[in-house]
Amino acid sequence: MNTWQMYIDGKWVEARDAKTYPVPNPATEEEFARVPDATVVDVERAVAAARRAFDEGPWPRTPLPERVAMLQRIADIIERRKDEFRDVLVATAGAEFVTHAQQLESPIQLIRNMAEIASRHPFEELLPMVEQPTPAGGNLVSTLLVRQPVGVCALIPTWNFPLWVTAQKFAPALAAGCTMVVKPSPWAPLIDLMIAQVVDEAGVPPGVVNVVCGQAPEIGPALVEDPRIDKVSFTGSNATGMRIMESVAKNLTRVHLELGGKSALMVLDDYELDAAVPSAASPTFFHAGQGCAMTTRVLVHRSRHDELVAKMAAFVESAVKVGDPADPSVLLGPVIRPERRAAIEEYIASGREQGADLVTGGGRPAQLDRGWFVEPTIFGNARADMRIAQEEIFGPVVTVIPFDDEEHAVRIANDSDYGLFGSILSHDKRRAIELAKRIRTGGVSINGAFNSFQKPSGGFKQSGIGRENGRFGLEEYTELQVVMWPN
Ligand code: NAD
Repeated sequence: MNTWQMYIDGKWVEARDAKTYPVPNPATEEEFARVPDATVVDVERAVAAARRAFDEGPWPRTPLPERVAMLQRIADIIERRKDEFRDVLVATAGAEFVTHAQQLESPIQLIRNMAEIASRHPFEELLPMVEQPTPAGGNLVSTLLVRQPVGVCALIPTWNFPLWVTAQKFAPALAAGCTMVVKPSPWAPLIDLMIAQVVDEAGVPPGVVNVVCGQAPEIGPALVEDPRIDKVSFTGSNATGMRIMESVAKNLTRVHLELGGKSALMVLDDYELDAAVPSAASPTFFHAGQGCAMTTRVLVHRSRHDELVAKMAAFVESAVKVGDPADPSVLLGPVIRPERRAAIEEYIASGREQGADLVTGGGRPAQLDRGWFVEPTIFGNARADMRIAQEEIFGPVVTVIPFDDEEHAVRIANDSDYGLFGSILSHDKRRAIELAKRIRTGGVSINGAFNSFQKPSGGFKQSGIGRENGRFGLEEYTELQVVMWPN
């Protein structure tokens, strides 16, 4: 039996009561591995280890070049073990071949990039001298700005791009000199356990990185409410984000939230519909629509709506092969769990009931008798107030909404509690950039352009608080301290 252990204080351990739970392959419904089912006591052990490693261990005081070298070593080990990571991503996260650049290559690059950014980050910065009388008599004051590690971090990543989401958190945390407890999603814990193996091999001191996995609902709250935690970084749904925010209020713990999205793609009138189709349809297949920044609302002028929708449906029906992502020709794999499929199906039913046109899909693929699959689904003629236009479905479903003019399109795009991302298709770059600035989201891509590593990634409104990636992501794991002396 393929049973894993978890990683606390530099040791591989079972859960306190030795219980385990199965991690299935969502394409086959078969058990892929078993992992420890942690209790609150295990979480407490991990937090104690991380606290000790921060207060007494060498890591927060390790010179920056050594921290940078450690990150580079970690990236090298993941690179060497890439095929093992790929197999686990396919079998436990349902990672289709087309997602591997984002699932596997990007996280390795992200860690290397973070090492590079950290190496020239001003962790200690002398500010310009100021004239100010001091009790000691001098009237020139020097100020050293120190970016201290924020402390012990609770990192709670999600399951959809597990290596990417965890790398976005642990790489800057390590670079800044923090220690951490990683609590992966119960649905995709193996990648985080593999990260623990990598960290162990790289020689990160015991207690700096701890990984605790389990499915008991009380372990997340136990972690974020522990007063020994200095910062929580969570990626997941808004509902959980709100609960975490309430929890951290008790200790005024710093909190960083990367939450959901309902991003809009605007097809402007100068853009050819044929060229728009692959991006407009992409959430119906790319990782089964299970991505926070996917443009699941497509906005197009009313006069071109029917043509676009017909072209999208033809594309999806002819080009999207559904099946087990272990087959590299498959474009659309399963969704992660049967309860997620049930929620997606409920949204599809609501779209029909509220009067949107179901153009293609809407059911389960008839040819697949196992696995948690949903057909690629497109709704047309939707209204902005429908549930399928407002709520995050997190499945292979796209909602097309017609607009009357550009002002109307901006209003629809901004008519959302979310504010994560957006996309504009237009050959008029200047017009698109001006339009982008009117969209209340953390990012807008014009004609598919993307910058994975330097861009601050995060949301306006209810899509989150804080930014990941690049120097902004690194600063999330530091606290500013000033040291002043007279001259
Ligand atoms: P979820 O909200 O169901 O989160 C589940 C995780 O939260 C589990 O690890 C669970 O143990 C933990 N948890 C639950 N209650 C808790 C509590 N009170 N305190 C602490 N931890 C608690 O979300 P999910 O299904 O894992 O993720 C899907 C969501 O993630 C989608 O909404 C998606 O948009 C979002 N997402 C956002 C980004 C981003 O960068 N903004 C990236 C990927 C996914």
